[in-house]
Amino acid sequence: MDVPDIIIAIDGYSSTGKSSFAKKVAARFGFTYLDSGALYRGVTLFAQEEGLINRVNSVNPRLSNELLSLDLHFDNGNRTYMGQRCIENQIRTMEVSAQVSPVSAVPFVRSYVDRKLHQFAENGRVVMDGRDIGTTVFPDAGLKIFMTASIKVRAQRRYDELVARGEMPVFEEVVSNLRERDYLDSHRETSPLRKAEDAFVLDNSDMTIEEEIAWVQGLIQGKFGIR
Ligand code: C5P
Repeated sequence: MDVPDIIIAIDGYSSTGKSSFAKKVAARFGFTYLDSGALYRGVTLFAQEEGLINRVNSVNPRLSNELLSLDLHFDNGNRTYMGQRCIENQIRTMEVSAQVSPVSAVPFVRSYVDRKLHQFAENGRVVMDGRDIGTTVFPDAGLKIFMTASIKVRAQRRYDELVARGEMPVFEEVVSNLRERDYLDSHRETSPLRKAEDAFVLDNSDMTIEEEIAWVQGLIQGKFGIR
């Protein structure tokens, strides 16, 4: 039986639990998960390692040329790779978080990531999370969800995540990093973060992941007839 291509686009603010939610949706309904933020983080790590970004977040235009051969991809367990090297842990550090928004505001970086996402999503059913999936990358996505939550809840989630990874974050720094990324992501010129007109809003400040899945199940059944 032919499986029609379906794209579910999940956008929203940093640390609203987009990736946990998207992974659950993928597992529950048999979709492939793609994490667009991981690609922006991978480009940022690459720029840092190659000395193509400085302390004041100025990106060297030479990065554009280097991206032509930068091989970022995912394995079956959704881990991010740069060529043969697994960079999953390195891209989640505070160092990368601190510079990812200025890097992702650069138009040639956005084109690079958009190209990769289109390539990865060529066939099948895909759920993708990010900031501009429903507005720019896949404006015709079959279902669009825009996630939000209070800054306190988001900062606590991010803090717990960093601690679980063995980092020693300062809570106030986590809050200011989130605020800064929210601001930069929604005020940049190229594809700023905003809710697509036809997106359903999910505020999960007081929801469990099970409640989120129950909420989306109705939408997925209604839109695609998938149980
Ligand atoms: O989703 P995550 O927080 O890992 O994304 C890291 C950063 O990548 C975001 O803060 C944002 O600056 C950028 N990003 C983006 N567009 C996307 C996904 C992520 O600009 N579609």
